[in-house]
Amino acid sequence: MKVALDIDDTITRHPAFFAFLSKALLDAGHEVVILTFREDRASTAADLAGWGIVYTHLITSTLDAHFKHGVNAWKGAMCKQHRIDLFFEDSMEVLRHVDGGTVCFSPVGRY
Ligand SMILES: [Mg+2]
Repeated sequence: MKVALDIDDTITRHPAFFAFLSKALLDAGHEVVILTFREDRASTAADLAGWGIVYTHLITSTLDAHFKHGVNAWKGAMCKQHRIDLFFEDSMEVLRHVDGGTVCFSPVGRY
């Protein structure tokens, strides 16, 4: 399986769970893709290391990518391009653009 994880308001809501999940997935031979609107790869990688998140790919964003796909559609395009099986993402505006080839999970109860 290829599993994509958003960072802000997803991993950050429960880093210990996602640290456990990411390690379990990698140990079992699956791929973990970090898919984030963040643009600074170095600080993003440092944050992930600090939370104990392990992964096979880190996909950060760029202004050009947003112009090409539209901000809310960019992650859906990445899911399709990278053939993501499962995607953990908090934003309903983003999830609206993910097609049926990817099963989505979203944290709730933030209010
Ligand atoms: Mg988010």
